[in-house]
Amino acid sequence: MSARAVHPSSDEIAAAVSGQLNVADAQRVRSHAAGCRKCGDRLCTEERTRERLELLAADAPQVNVVQQVLERIAAQKQEQPVLDESEPGSSRRASG
Ligand SMILES: [Zn+2]
Repeated sequence: MSARAVHPSSDEIAAAVSGQLNVADAQRVRSHAAGCRKCGDRLCTEERTRERLELLAADAPQVNVVQQVLERIAAQKQEQPVLDESEPGSSRRASG
């Protein structure tokens, strides 16, 4: 009974990629994947997925959404002209 015959589960592969597996198990999974095309592909896919997730996490905005919305509302308020109750011209009617 050789170790190669036993394919690691997808959980094991994911754990090996993410470093959650202990060194011995991770080595067993990786050495198996090196000699098994099927598991090699799965390991490769897992690594790529993980890389992408890390990129997404690094790309995520540091500011939270609520803060952004509040800033946008404040900016809109500044853009709007201040409504004056006394219209220019209406009070000049009596002059003369
Ligand atoms: Zn395999």
